[in-house]
Amino acid sequence: MKFSELAAYLDQLEATSGRNELVRILSEVYRACSVEEIEPITYLIQGRLAPFFEPVEIGLGERLLMSAMAMAYGKTKEDVTRSFRQTGDLGLTAHALAPKTRAETPAVVEVHRRLWEIAGTSGEGSLKAKLDLFAGLLGDLDAASAKHLVRITLGKMRLGIGDPTVLDALSFAKQGDRSLRPVLEAAYNRSSDLGLIAKTLWAQGVEGMDTIKVTVGKPLRSQLAERLPNPEAVIKKLGLVGVQPKYDGFRVQIHKDAREVSIFSRNLETMTPMFPELVAATIALPVKSVILDGEAIAYSPASEEYVPFQETTARRRKEGIDEFATTVPLRAFVFDIMFRDGTDLTPLPYEQRFAIVDTLLKGSDTLQVAPLTRTDSVEILTRELLDNISRGLEGVVAKRLDSPYQAGARNFNWVKLKRNTSGQLTDTVDVVLIGYYGGKGKRAEFGAGALLAGVYDSDKDEFVSISKLGTGLSDEGWRDLHRQMSRLEVSEKPARVNSLLVPDMWLRPEVVVEVLADEITPSPRHSAGKVGDQPGFALRFPRIVSFRSADKKPEDATTVREIREMFEQQHQRPVRD
Ligand code: AMP
Repeated sequence: MKFSELAAYLDQLEATSGRNELVRILSEVYRACSVEEIEPITYLIQGRLAPFFEPVEIGLGERLLMSAMAMAYGKTKEDVTRSFRQTGDLGLTAHALAPKTRAETPAVVEVHRRLWEIAGTSGEGSLKAKLDLFAGLLGDLDAASAKHLVRITLGKMRLGIGDPTVLDALSFAKQGDRSLRPVLEAAYNRSSDLGLIAKTLWAQGVEGMDTIKVTVGKPLRSQLAERLPNPEAVIKKLGLVGVQPKYDGFRVQIHKDAREVSIFSRNLETMTPMFPELVAATIALPVKSVILDGEAIAYSPASEEYVPFQETTARRRKEGIDEFATTVPLRAFVFDIMFRDGTDLTPLPYEQRFAIVDTLLKGSDTLQVAPLTRTDSVEILTRELLDNISRGLEGVVAKRLDSPYQAGARNFNWVKLKRNTSGQLTDTVDVVLIGYYGGKGKRAEFGAGALLAGVYDSDKDEFVSISKLGTGLSDEGWRDLHRQMSRLEVSEKPARVNSLLVPDMWLRPEVVVEVLADEITPSPRHSAGKVGDQPGFALRFPRIVSFRSADKKPEDATTVREIREMFEQQHQRPVRD
């Protein structure tokens, strides 16, 4: 496939306003792919060169791209800057300056290879080398191709194609329907690598999915917890459980092999440089290879207290990682192990995995075992919950002792339990901003009146509206938010957004916000959970608690299924002291 053909498909995808259409067009792209092409194309359509967890950076920002464009198109930098001022989008500027067509254009595989080469160029004189290579590439591309190339390079692709949409499109392309989605999804949960899945599917068929194993260096999709309203419900549903404190820190998946240690966040980003203490402690572990799951939390030796999550990440960025590592060192409470010395441990029952963690971490101070209490008693579970709350922790997680590690699953193998008073919701909901309203008076100055927020429908891979948000932010907060949002504004409803309400401005669904609401109520105005004439769900009195984009992708927002469960649970008997 020529890069120009891919660019034409990207144009079609960009103009689409419905999720089914996205899947259809994307499956057409896939049907036209060879085995060699499908992997790079899978990364490129998500605006990347490699899977999400590989921190490959092309390393050319706006200014350098403008220089490259001037070189490629025989213009002055002023010409390019002027055009950029008019379009506000360097992709469109490239489109305006490049020739509409070219006689010979490169294949997608070649463009991908040349971008890799640019990304891999480092050391002295590398900027100049990158510039030359990029200008050379632009010089081979027609206008539509140049537009997409520039957007990919800047990380500003606008398609917003989610991973489930890619999986559906692969299934349609191979089988003509969605039936392969579960097998593909299972391989995806083990590897988080859509390109590898696509290539294996094309080369070996569905049977090839078995060859995609848990591997050091490729994060597994994190297992997640369900909710239940009180200890009685937990014991009734799960029986004997292992109870652990629920730490409010930063989820870390720690990988080690002979070559290196990598640390991934909950949303599968590589975070290794943020955690030098954890890297050092992992190197010291007496294993050749290992994958651990845990929660990192900062501990202040001076006050002998744990420091809350938001503060931890903000201060690390501000004060510098190394200084912070000495004043407020991090610890990780490790609660699971998925792999050790060549063996996939995910099928083992939790009790056995926990015993392995317990033995492995003996003697490590930085990597601590999250303590586990076995019980089938409501009284003991209640006591554990209240004890942990009084120690300033969020609550507890109760785990089924006979359960395997189910990557990517949110089910009753893990149940989180927090304090719940008088039937109100105490658990927060993670929403995604999908639009905003202009607002009057003071707020209008900052460009936002109310925000329109949605949750994630994981079956349909759509963001569905659930609430307007208007309170809880300082003026400074509003201003900051507006700055963040301006780069996400789009005039048409994004394809994966489903909302009956039409805001003044749509936003590409990227910003994840944690909100606390009093209650979930039925509502005919919102599309979250709405089926036919039945009402959807809304949040009553939502307040913004924090911004979670640092550790949550939009697809990690609360799902419609969770909202429905929270709705059903909210009037059950709460926990009492
Ligand atoms: P939530 O984000 O509210 O769905 O709660 C699940 C999160 O709690 C996980 O993603 C972990 O980051 C965190 N967590 C804290 N302590 C534990 C624990 N002992 N076991 C599992 N998850 C935990």
